[in-house]
Amino acid sequence: MKKYVYFFGRGKAEGKAEMKGLLGGKGANLAEMTNIGLPVPAGFSISTEVCTHFYANKKTYPRSLNAEVVAALKKVESAMGAKFGDPKNPLLVSVRSGARASMPGMMDTILNLGMNDTVAGGLIKKTGNHRFVFDSYRRFVQMYGDVVLGLKPVHKDEIDPFEIIIEKKKKERGVHLDTELNADDMKDLVGLFKKAIKEKTGHDFPEDPLKQLWGAIGAVFGSWSNDRAIAYRKMYDIPEVWGTAVNIQSMVFGNMGETSGTGVAFTRNAASGDDMFYGEYLMNAQGEDVVAGTRTPLPISDLAEKNPVIYKQLDRIRHTLEKHYRDMMDVEFTIQEGKLYMLQCRVGKRTAFAAIKIAVDMVGEKLISDREALARIEPDQLNQLLRPVFDLKEKESAVKSGRLLAKGLNAGPGAATGRVVFNAPDAEAWKKRGELVILTRIETSPEDIKGMDAAEGILTARGGMTSHAALVARQMGKVCVAGCSSLEIDYATHTMTVKGKKIREGDWISLDGTTGEVIEGKVATRPSEVLRVLVDKSLDPKDAPVYQQYARIMQWADKHRRLKIRTNADQPDQALNAVAFGAEGIGLCRTEHMFFGEGKIGPMREMILADTVEDRKRALAKLLPLQRKDFEGIFEAMNGRPVTIRTIDPPLHEFVPHEEPAQRELARQMGTTYEKVHQRVESLHEFNPMLGFRGCRLGIIFPEITEMQSRAIFEAAANVKARGIAVEPEIMIPLVGNVKELAHQEKIVRRVAAEVMKEKGTKFKYLVGTMIEIPRGALTADEIAGVAEFFSFGTNDLTQTTLGVSRDDAARFLIPYVEMEIYPKDPFEALDRIGVGELMKIAIAKGRSVRPDLKVGICGEHGGDPSSIEFCHQINQNYVSCSPFRVPIARLAAARAALADKPAGGTRKKAAGKKSPRKR
Ligand code: PEP
Ligand code: MG
Repeated sequence: MKKYVYFFGRGKAEGKAEMKGLLGGKGANLAEMTNIGLPVPAGFSISTEVCTHFYANKKTYPRSLNAEVVAALKKVESAMGAKFGDPKNPLLVSVRSGARASMPGMMDTILNLGMNDTVAGGLIKKTGNHRFVFDSYRRFVQMYGDVVLGLKPVHKDEIDPFEIIIEKKKKERGVHLDTELNADDMKDLVGLFKKAIKEKTGHDFPEDPLKQLWGAIGAVFGSWSNDRAIAYRKMYDIPEVWGTAVNIQSMVFGNMGETSGTGVAFTRNAASGDDMFYGEYLMNAQGEDVVAGTRTPLPISDLAEKNPVIYKQLDRIRHTLEKHYRDMMDVEFTIQEGKLYMLQCRVGKRTAFAAIKIAVDMVGEKLISDREALARIEPDQLNQLLRPVFDLKEKESAVKSGRLLAKGLNAGPGAATGRVVFNAPDAEAWKKRGELVILTRIETSPEDIKGMDAAEGILTARGGMTSHAALVARQMGKVCVAGCSSLEIDYATHTMTVKGKKIREGDWISLDGTTGEVIEGKVATRPSEVLRVLVDKSLDPKDAPVYQQYARIMQWADKHRRLKIRTNADQPDQALNAVAFGAEGIGLCRTEHMFFGEGKIGPMREMILADTVEDRKRALAKLLPLQRKDFEGIFEAMNGRPVTIRTIDPPLHEFVPHEEPAQRELARQMGTTYEKVHQRVESLHEFNPMLGFRGCRLGIIFPEITEMQSRAIFEAAANVKARGIAVEPEIMIPLVGNVKELAHQEKIVRRVAAEVMKEKGTKFKYLVGTMIEIPRGALTADEIAGVAEFFSFGTNDLTQTTLGVSRDDAARFLIPYVEMEIYPKDPFEALDRIGVGELMKIAIAKGRSVRPDLKVGICGEHGGDPSSIEFCHQINQNYVSCSPFRVPIARLAAARAALADKPAGGTRKKAAGKKSPRKR
């Protein structure tokens, strides 16, 4: 019979860390901690297979589950020496979700389950602690009411109905804090909560502990498909089929009085990566108080003074865990009457800064290998290192002039400026209309996830470094200042008051997530440390620790990757940036972008509007020196690295003016009539220009264009070579679907090359190749490779033509398509491996069948997307080419792909994440 339930307790567990797929992360790690001798309260996990069954069978369970749960519960009872539902010696349990990947706060949790009026009576007798018992009881009723009985707030400005009752009670009693309520108040709250439940649901609160347990199990499995869990899964590519496990664990209490407490901690600093114990705790509290941010907790270092025995034990556990897991861990613990228990451990979420520092440090500490270090950094995290920080002078002057509004916790580093909004739906809506926003909340909850994603930064009035806001912001790479207690936020009027100033919705504020400062108004930002070292060269690497870590990672990445990394650049400054980021060549220089530069658009338009070959040649002659100068700049910047230059590609109408005044002006410049210009522009109109007169078709019908461009390239090459700089030009013909198209263009290119070499009395190597970007090109790649010396996949067009989806008009239906999971991701962002990828494989196989050493690259936007780069590696390409700022990301992605190929101690990991918008 299939096993669905896995017990842990008394130093032995049926599960282990490797069983995350079946037991979820939480269940697997509870088992592992039990097995390595840490103090874990006994419990059991119901496997994710039950979740799958639950959804496949109208929310019912496998037949054998009931017996397994009952048996496991017995084992827990015997391990803990207490009985579920027994008033004399009751066992209370927690019921928690736990998926394979951590989804903090997205699903549901219930604590203190097993409580009812008789159990409460028994517990009072046992502990003699009225307040503790009724505090636990009211928490249970509140959570159960929220999670199982559905009393959660529905509207964005609504407050939890139970919180309203608590607030009323506090007012009545004239106190501010929950902790100031006494035992009788708590007892009253239990009654009031139950009454509210009866009123809202029409049912009594269930008193039978087993009924409570099954209600909670069902609700936790049910929470796998709540809105926020679905949104989170989408955001982080967590497959729906994974499902969640349910963990049932005996309760230990942090709210039993002043010798009890609870906390969360990271084995290193999750924001900076520093090797220090980093966490928070609260005495006389339950776990939810720390994470929910309803009370601001104390730093863990305080515990060292207040309870050195427990602190030392915890610190030992920190080292045990790091040695055992060889990673930075995030733990939850509870102290019950002076005894320490571990309730959870998982690999800790961290900022990109911390991820890099921890990985580099752990290699130094010989805890992990450089391969593992690379596997632990998501390529897109590097984006965070390239992010702006505040211009220090500007910030100082803002602070000096009294604009420092408040200081909170530096929960998510970086600099953000935006307009204040007070709830998540507004953040989303404002962002949609192009505003930069700072989401400002008393505290955030998992419901706010989409608003947090839309915001530049997140500001909260309550909560610590491990509050929801702080955790999620760090994971998203958002700037966050948390626990800024001097803010008085009023949701109803959409305002906040701080230092006597009123800040209204829409006002600008700036957050320094590295220092925790909140500043009124906008503050200018400046480039990151990495950019200052590499790009502006305004910072010495010696003074740039973040840069040094980045450089180590890049060095390891380069050691392991097989793919070469090139860049898409059409200007010398872009090329220089890319080289600074590690580009090894240019994979795509779009010559048409050059035509928009200084003084070039005029002759270009003359060329397009010319009536005769002679007129066209005259205009081209004006363009020749201008293009040659551009290419010289590029060759110089690339200093001997290969440069792939593509001949003109877009439809010509993109270069001419369509408005009357601009056409009149053009007519004046050309010495002709407006009517003539107008009529020529009209004649260029196409119904479907992307499938029209573009790509190599232009150079075939107007060979003098290819001739001029080839001449400009080769003359530039000769001139730069004469200055002692090596050159390696590669001429690339776009949109080839038929080998005859390529052969036609190749002939011109080679003739001009020979002419230039003769004229200049020099020799240089060059290649002629093509883009593979329409299906016929891929399918006849063997013929094409007879002429082409290299292929570069133009996956923007190849996706467009393979899917029959216009790349410019797709957003309208592709976004819903992705939501409906017709495509797992936007295929213009992440390669459609099954369709487009298949064509790429065919093209490579056919191409290399006639030219075994055929060089193959990619220069569509996918060349900067980690998961597409992994695919390019797998199909044996030689290089990828991406925009300059994605070069570091591509280097890392290429290394991770290579390591996943031959995992020697490294892990096979999926590379995924969010991308910056595509640019043509
Ligand atoms: C492509 O089609 O992938 C490509 C790189 O060319 P463009 O985007 O300029 O059409
Ligand atoms: Mg293209």
